Amino acid sequence: MKHVLMAVSGPSGVGKGTIVKTLVKRRADVVESVSCTTRAPRQGETHGKEYFFLTKDEFLTRLSQDDFLEYDEHFGNYYGTPKSFVEETLKEKSVILEIDVVGALRVKEKFPETVLVMIVPPSVEELKSRLQGRGSETAEEIENRLSRLSYELSQQDKYDYVIVNDDLEKAIQDVESVLDGTYRK
Ligand code: ADP
Ligand code: 5GP
Repeated sequence: MKHVLMAVSGPSGVGKGTIVKTLVKRRADVVESVSCTTRAPRQGETHGKEYFFLTKDEFLTRLSQDDFLEYDEHFGNYYGTPKSFVEETLKEKSVILEIDVVGALRVKEKFPETVLVMIVPPSVEELKSRLQGRGSETAEEIENRLSRLSYELSQQDKYDYVIVNDDLEKAIQDVESVLDGTYRK
C-alpha cells in the first residue's frame, strides 16, 4: 500500500494529540514525525522521542542543506520538520505531522502529495471545556489559545479534509480512513 504523509492541524485542545497518539498505537504502519528543536530537553524528554535536540549551529547547518520541510521560531528557539527523517520513514510507513496551519501549508508547498487534515471542535464551548479539563494551561494561556481559534478555523477550505472531533472514536476512525483512502463523509 502507498504510504501517506499527513499533516494534522486544529485549535489547541481539539484533540489532535489524543487522536494521533491513539492511531499510532493501533497501527504498526503509521508513525508520528519527530521534529528538531534547539530548545533544551525538559525533564523526562529523550533525544529522538519527543524531539531531536540540536544545537543552533547544527540546526542552521541542516537548514542550509535544505533538510527541513518547514521550520519556525517559537519563544526564541528553532523548530523544524526534518525532511530526511520523513522521507526515510515514508519508504516503510505513513507519517503524521501534528503541526499548525502555517507549517502544514508550507509542507504542502514543498511536498504537494501531503494530505491536510483539520480537526475542528463541535462547538467553541466544548473546546473551552476540553482545554479547562486538560488542566495543563492557566486561564490566560487558554484565552491566548482561543484567540487563535477564528484564524485557524478560517483556513479550513485550504485543507483536504475537515473532521469534527465530537465522538472521539468516530474522529479516530475518520482520520484512519483518510490514511487508507477510504474516507466517506
Ligand atoms: P490537542 O492536542 O489538540 O491540543 P488534546 O489531545 O490534548 O488536544 O485534547 C484536549 C483534551 O480534550 C484532553 O483532555 C482530551 O482527553 C480531551 N478530548 C479529546 N477528544 C475528546 C472528545 N472527542 N470528547 C471529549 N474530550 C476529548
Ligand atoms: P514546545 O517547546 O512546547 O514543545 O513547542 C513549542 C511550539 O513549537 C509549539 O507551538 C509546537 O507546536 C511548535 N513546534 C513543534 N515542532 C514544530 C515543528 O516541527 N515545526 C514548527 N513550525 N513548529 C513546531
